[in-house]
Amino acid sequence: MSVRAVIFDVYQTLLEVGPPPDDADARWRALWTRLPGNTPPPSLAAFTADCEAVIRREHALAREQGVAWPEVYWPAVTVAAAPALRALDPSVLDDWLFAHAQLVRTVRLDPHAGDVLRRLASTGIAQGIASNAQPYTWRELEDALRTVGLDGACFDPALRFWSFEQGFSKPDPHVFRLLSARLRARGISPDETLMVGDRLDNDVAPARRAGWQAWHLGRAGPVTVPGGSGDACLASAARLTVPESGECRRDDRTTGSGEVSGTKPAELVGDWQALDRFLARVVEGYPFAANQSTS
Ligand SMILES: [Mg+2]
Repeated sequence: MSVRAVIFDVYQTLLEVGPPPDDADARWRALWTRLPGNTPPPSLAAFTADCEAVIRREHALAREQGVAWPEVYWPAVTVAAAPALRALDPSVLDDWLFAHAQLVRTVRLDPHAGDVLRRLASTGIAQGIASNAQPYTWRELEDALRTVGLDGACFDPALRFWSFEQGFSKPDPHVFRLLSARLRARGISPDETLMVGDRLDNDVAPARRAGWQAWHLGRAGPVTVPGGSGDACLASAARLTVPESGECRRDDRTTGSGEVSGTKPAELVGDWQALDRFLARVVEGYPFAANQSTS
């Protein structure tokens, strides 16, 4: 089965997420002084806790309304949690919240993602995003792509799902139905679409249920998969099946040729190099990868 569209998760897939910077508290106090007025700054932890309380209320309200997997709009959450932010114009608030986001964790482009994105772009294949995200996410991704000479234009604007824009999030099946409908308008069927993500619950399982192929991205070395059993989940291009329970096992029906076998869409697992080799087999025109091997 060929692949004609690739949809990427963002966090812990395209972007690595690391711990907060060492000077986060000092930078937080400096950031707070940019607000009008002289409100004393809460601690960074207290601000986070206040925001989480708002999120719990928003989620509960949305679920009462029938939204199974709600998503909040972060600027509204923060303004509700910290009224001092109300004085900021929306664009200034966006800048302020981007700066805040860099204090609670660090992000950088996965060292191998740029090569794969560049090779995919050279084929003209449709590339998109399915991300549980907030307004700062796109800026984080574009900044990261710029470090390797890429930009966000490689992702089709109509194939970018940002949860904050929709009010619901992965693993809601509507995420995948929405993207499937837009792909179908381009003549691309679900089984020609590959989801690439780090989460079985948010990326792999719902993509599979939508009839997509799904690549479970692991880091170099063994991949820990909930319910998995050691060697069956090593970071190679081995095909695995993941039943609805999330249990992971090797699919002995597969041939190792990169082709999907059986009646269900295949789930694939491995690191970026393994994904690179897989794409070389299933994407028409994909450049031969320097690290390609059949082992
Ligand atoms: Mg992720």
